[in-house]
Amino acid sequence: MFALRNQVRTHIARGFVSARQSLSTLALIEQSNGTIAGSTLNALTAAKELGGDVTALVAGSKAADVAAQVAKIKGIAAVLTASSPAYDHGLPENYADLVAAATKEGGFTHVVAPSSAFGKNVLPRVSALLDATQISDITKIESEDTFVRPIYAGNAIETVKSKDPIKLLTVRASAFPAVELEGGSASVSDAKDPASEPQSEWLSEELTKSERPDLGGAKKVVSGGRGLKNKENFDKIMFPLADALGAAVGASRAAVDSGFADNSLQVGQTGKVVAPELYIAVGISGAIQHLAGMKDSKVIAAINKDADAPIFEVADVGLVADLFDAVPELTEKVKA
Ligand SMILES: Cc1cc2nc3c(=O)[nH]c(=O)nc-3n(C[C@H](O)[C@H](O)[C@H](O)COP(=O)(O)OP(=O)(O)OC[C@H]3O[C@@H](n4cnc5c(N)ncnc54)[C@H](O)[C@@H]3O)c2cc1C
Repeated sequence: MFALRNQVRTHIARGFVSARQSLSTLALIEQSNGTIAGSTLNALTAAKELGGDVTALVAGSKAADVAAQVAKIKGIAAVLTASSPAYDHGLPENYADLVAAATKEGGFTHVVAPSSAFGKNVLPRVSALLDATQISDITKIESEDTFVRPIYAGNAIETVKSKDPIKLLTVRASAFPAVELEGGSASVSDAKDPASEPQSEWLSEELTKSERPDLGGAKKVVSGGRGLKNKENFDKIMFPLADALGAAVGASRAAVDSGFADNSLQVGQTGKVVAPELYIAVGISGAIQHLAGMKDSKVIAAINKDADAPIFEVADVGLVADLFDAVPELTEKVKA
């Protein structure tokens, strides 16, 4: 009887706490050298959709500049900043303590990050520090505790209900529109200093520079596959088509593994997930792992010499032809 009474009390106490704790979200702002990453703007839409106040967390030596931009976004209630070079490159070992401390300090019920390399690096560590489950790559919010996400490379869609008091969410950028960068006037203040020593140090990076649009956010993408046969052909055939269309260049994993294209261009399950208005697949068979990265594109066009290639099952427009004839001709027509 005593045990039963205690149990009832515990339940009443838990219920009381959760009823009092109103929904509030901490949104992580991914930025590089003062520029906010595009996928963060999509994740902010998801954060706003949850309902409740949204507080943004900006960290890095340019935190103050970025915070001033974020404060102007409509629907952001407050911005927390941590101005330290330790956060400049989104190093997860340094970031996780900051996010965990800010979450505890603010009593946030939800933490949202883009499902980019940054979000995928930082949030699992926060999950361990807060002992709360992460729900990855959400594409829809059903309610404050129920979320939709693709699994098995997008072949099944799962609806997850979380009973954790803190929900840690990474957001698939292509599933939410970007927020507008104006209309708001949020307050800006310092985030709680986690007072932990930086655990990793940034040494250097080698970036591929390109004048073409960024693959992640481009409205048009032209992707090349193994059908191009070598790097020389890839450059000669794909880049002029991309430039004629003002498109970003993507590639299949086979093309990347064979050295035709840089691995930052890989589209698919283990590459980038894109959903442009136009996706042109050239010499790509359409393996499920590739489709997982592009099947939400608005219009899919495919050029393949094999009429039975699976890419034609998802394509809105298909051309059965030798790419070495068809693509240069298409490029000339687009230019004209
Ligand atoms: C765990 C795992 C993760 C993976 N992740 C990814 C991923 O993220 N992204 C990804 O792309 N793949 C991924 N893959 C690999 C995937 O399974 C396929 O092997 C890969 O997508 C095939 O690339 P492809 O279509 O370029 O090559 P292929 O399958 O070899 O297709 C080449 C196509 O080119 C066509 N072709 C050839 N010559 C011509 C020509 N002259 N004109 C026109 N068409 C021509 C052929 O008919 C063929 O359809 C993954 C696999 C695994 C197991």
